[in-house]
Amino acid sequence: MTSDRPPSTPRSGHAVVLGAGVAGLLAARVLSESFDRVSVLDRDDLPGSADTALPADTALPVDTALPAGTALPAAGLGARRGVPQAGHLHALMDRGREILEDLHPGLVAQLVAAGAPTSEALVGGRWYLHGRRVGPVSTGLTSVLASRPLLERELRRRTAVLPGVRLLPRTAVIGLVGVGAGEAGGGVGTGAVTGVRIRSGAGDGASTVLAADLVVDASGRNSRSLDWLSAAGHPAPPTSRVTVDLGYASRVYQRRPEHLDGDLSVIISTTPGLRGGGAAAVEGDRWIVTLAGLLGEHPPTDHDGFCTFARRLPVPDIADLVRAATPLTDAVPYRFRESVRRHFEAVRSPPDGLVVIGDALCSFNPLYAQGMTVAAQQTLVLRDCLREGLGGLAGRFYRAVGGVLDVAWDMATSADLRYPAVVGRRTLRGRVTGSYAARAQRRAHRDPAVARTLLRVVHLAEPPTALLRPALAARVLAPGGAGGHARPAHHDQS
Ligand SMILES: Cc1cc2nc3c(=O)[nH]c(=O)nc-3n(C[C@H](O)[C@H](O)[C@H](O)COP(=O)(O)OP(=O)(O)OC[C@H]3O[C@@H](n4cnc5c(N)ncnc54)[C@H](O)[C@@H]3O)c2cc1C
Repeated sequence: MTSDRPPSTPRSGHAVVLGAGVAGLLAARVLSESFDRVSVLDRDDLPGSADTALPADTALPVDTALPAGTALPAAGLGARRGVPQAGHLHALMDRGREILEDLHPGLVAQLVAAGAPTSEALVGGRWYLHGRRVGPVSTGLTSVLASRPLLERELRRRTAVLPGVRLLPRTAVIGLVGVGAGEAGGGVGTGAVTGVRIRSGAGDGASTVLAADLVVDASGRNSRSLDWLSAAGHPAPPTSRVTVDLGYASRVYQRRPEHLDGDLSVIISTTPGLRGGGAAAVEGDRWIVTLAGLLGEHPPTDHDGFCTFARRLPVPDIADLVRAATPLTDAVPYRFRESVRRHFEAVRSPPDGLVVIGDALCSFNPLYAQGMTVAAQQTLVLRDCLREGLGGLAGRFYRAVGGVLDVAWDMATSADLRYPAVVGRRTLRGRVTGSYAARAQRRAHRDPAVARTLLRVVHLAEPPTALLRPALAARVLAPGGAGGHARPAHHDQS
């Protein structure tokens, strides 16, 4: 494990993390540099927590490999109740891969050992924008095609062996302690969060209090922190919402090497229509295939409806794949109504002792595959803030993390808000960003330099300003229409 913390600074105190998703596990990793005890609580069972006795470099058994034709329950990838999105395509952006590898050296090799394929982003994978393929061009970006459950399981196992860290599955957090005079968790009225109220096991037992010097809320989109804070009289942060009414349907298939002519992934962007999809080869010689539709154009989950939706996409790659491959599961749905960003940075004095992180702070339209990477970026900000001590930590964190969130939020929402029916606040800056990005996307079809930079920006490996560098801007703004690797639209006979 690497730690940039000066050796002279002793670790002390107890940090409690709500939620053992990607944000919670990564937060625990950086907290273990500052605290001598870190407790990660999750109300789920956390499969694989029992593996914690294994050394971090032990290769995991590929318990996910299946003989062809084996029927699996609907959540065939191993998604658990608290993270239902894990049954859907989960692409890890290159910047996220880089941070995860920095925090957990050897992680990628271990995912590969567990069967996750890797590829150069635009070479081993196909990316269609506006119905045309971008590339293939070299981008210097690596796609690690692990399923979300495999990634989480491996992170969990590595987190559990960190010094002072313990995972507490089947432990629900039901309140914050100390936030105010009210009973937002049996508080003592200090205004600072001093712990959490928990209930363990089946949920019918008495609740107990777990004291903490710092509580990190990584409990996801449905975090209750805001309710608990407002019940204790704390002002609610302003909230930005962009309503996209997105529907997903995902299904797992057996993979054979000839599928997609050996390519490992395909993404068919919704732009400029409402429907899109993706497929990625994941561990266990399987495909996770996700179909997606915005603004109520949701893909069906029955076999015929799923296949018909795939055939109606602008290019035939996914339809061909689902026709050729053997399904291993039923399709599972997911509905995502809106992207939500909570502006804690605008709260004059956020309660000390609590930091909200990950989806609980900002949850993005999953079509842009930013969530895990932005969660990873946030944990680096948290680490920097912790190095300056606990005093005023929450305020410092929210101010510092704003820049990280702005990049991803602006990219995603400026694209979404180009659809007139998407509800959200439209700004001149957003309009300009959205239309410049759309122009860069079109240009990427025939200009490899634009394609390369565009994808590096999408992977959060470079800032969006990379697309504004004079030499590149000249290429983006050059007159002429888009050409490129168009493939004929599939004729739907149904
Ligand atoms: C359909 C979909 C597809 C996505 N695809 C991608 C993608 O391709 N790439 C990408 O980077 N991101 C993707 N995301 C986003 C990504 O899943 C999240 O951004 C990322 O996992 C970070 O989430 P988190 O850890 O903050 O919360 P979560 O992953 O939601 O984890 C929250 C955890 O908190 C626990 N919990 C909740 N409440 C309590 C409580 N009261 N007490 C105890 N435990 C509690 C839950 O059990 C869960 O384990 C997608 C999201 C969705 C919805």
